[in-house]
Amino acid sequence: MSVGIISHPDCLLYDMGSDHPESPERLRVIENTLKKSDIRSLLHFYEANAATEEDLKRAHDSAYVDGLFKRAQHNKIYSLDPDTIMMPFTLRAACLAAGAVIQGIDLVMQNKESKIFCNVRPPGHHAERNKAMGFCFFNNIAVGASYALEHYKLKKIAIVDFDVHHGNGTEDIFRDESKVLFCSSFQYPFYPYNIDIKQQGHILHIPLLAGTDGVGFCESVLKYWIPALINFEPELILISAGFDAHIKDPLANINLTEEDYYWVTQEMVKIAKQSCGGRIVSTLEGGYNLSVLGQCVLAHVKAFLELPFKENSVL
Ligand SMILES: [Zn+2]
Repeated sequence: MSVGIISHPDCLLYDMGSDHPESPERLRVIENTLKKSDIRSLLHFYEANAATEEDLKRAHDSAYVDGLFKRAQHNKIYSLDPDTIMMPFTLRAACLAAGAVIQGIDLVMQNKESKIFCNVRPPGHHAERNKAMGFCFFNNIAVGASYALEHYKLKKIAIVDFDVHHGNGTEDIFRDESKVLFCSSFQYPFYPYNIDIKQQGHILHIPLLAGTDGVGFCESVLKYWIPALINFEPELILISAGFDAHIKDPLANINLTEEDYYWVTQEMVKIAKQSCGGRIVSTLEGGYNLSVLGQCVLAHVKAFLELPFKENSVL
């Protein structure tokens, strides 16, 4: 078995400053960790294609997409919110990040790969239909899901989001789309502070109090997500893979470890095997501790490969 890794060097070209946690270095540490690991020979590396305006407009309002493309022509710096700064090369990276998910979906739907991890930035899950926020410009996972719904006529897509922040953008885009089951775990109360945590059919929240560890996270996943996913029988699983719920992450207060990311990924692999021929496309969201981010992604990809967690000497 192999896993496809999709990335692009142009995703490294914009830099919001040395004190901004969403740095190009994130992608470098992930790539270096994967390439130096003993699973290197099991990985296929692909260069991302950029999403088109048509692709982006399946998930976002036309006027919003047009506005970002117009701003990009001026080559200036725009603060779209206090954390989300658009500068030269941001639009190029954002189109590649969204395009990577589409490319990953094509690869798994055409049976060229079974699992994909997109090592891309900017992240996407905070970007709403008509709003950039929280380091996100286009909602990469939502652009991918919208493409799969239209292009492959899928009727059941699961989006699993274990980033420590609520995927408010993904929820905004699919609030009225019952073909998408959205499972999101997040620290609560916490950024983006606009969450209505009551369960609503195809949207399954797992709010986690500050200090929650792997045991509490796993219990909630087993209680809420797994039965719903088994019952839903997704034709494709997409993962918003944020690693900022790690105990060493500087932005949040949840205490997960590499092994917890391995475990939750394994659970998704089991569901995918039962319902959709193993197809999973995962894309990077958060994760800001550069000393552990590579190891978190390595654990995630090892679970895709169905290798034991302990086997790799890097872990
Ligand atoms: Zn996050």
